[in-house]
Amino acid sequence: MNGTDIKPENQMTDFGLIGKDISYSFSKAHFTAKFEEEGLDYSYDNFDLDTISQFPEVIKNNPNLLGLNVTIPYKESIIPYLDEVDGVAQEIGAVNTIKIGSDGKLKGYNTDHLGFQASIFPLLAPHHENALILGTGGASKAINFALKQLNVPCNFVSRTPRPEARYTFGGLTEDIIKAHQIIINCTPIGTYPNVNECPEIPYDAVSEAHLLYDLIYNPIQTKFLICGEIKGATISNGAKMLELQAEKSWEIWVSE
Ligand code: NAP
Repeated sequence: MNGTDIKPENQMTDFGLIGKDISYSFSKAHFTAKFEEEGLDYSYDNFDLDTISQFPEVIKNNPNLLGLNVTIPYKESIIPYLDEVDGVAQEIGAVNTIKIGSDGKLKGYNTDHLGFQASIFPLLAPHHENALILGTGGASKAINFALKQLNVPCNFVSRTPRPEARYTFGGLTEDIIKAHQIIINCTPIGTYPNVNECPEIPYDAVSEAHLLYDLIYNPIQTKFLICGEIKGATISNGAKMLELQAEKSWEIWVSE
């Protein structure tokens, strides 16, 4: 853990992001620009934690905190540290937004599913009947929840066998790809600087009938999306989702 990260010099941090190796993150730049544009006297800082057990220290050392975002890899492991979890976040099993009440109580929410749902909805076509979710982490759970609400059944893919995953990457066949017209990358594979990597799936079976959606937003076009575009698939990165989930976090922080 970086000592200056956990205890910002001015000790006046109002909002922040909990995660690991998050110097690349969009959230700080997004909220800092928002506060400037809207003339709001708030600050936003990154809290880069080696382990989630350092979280109570963040709360203790930053008494002005009003809200936090939570990112990879802590969206699930943060839950035991919260006083309350909103019903939807509980059902999803992952928290990406924390509101800190005037009494110091921490309440967890999930806004990823809202950002994802709003961003994918305009891209959906009637033939997009089934989805394949690559990864089984915190974000994948929100994506599953959002697609279920849109009546799109999902199957998960994991790297090692897991009860919640129907497939492993090694077991994916062309027929499985053909049977799932929406494929969503919920792993960090392909994130900057590892831009030459992509999830191992049979890309030969991807066609113009597919929609490939990558939660990653840096780079703008991952190798996963490039492989889909070559095959004529509709593609989307996670930039819109990111913006929308951040705005939903803001609405939660400023609500009564
Ligand atoms: P997470 O909880 O750490 O889950 C990551 C998942 O990826 C796990 O299932 C993990 O499998 C799998 N994985 C990691 N490396 C892998 C590899 N080399 N091969 C196969 N599987 C691998 O992270 P998360 O919070 O769900 O986030 C996942 C990604 O979504 C991140 O890139 C994050 O930045 C992005 N995201 C974007 C947005 C947005 O608004 N655009 C929102 C949320 C998340 P194991 O369990 O086997 O380790």
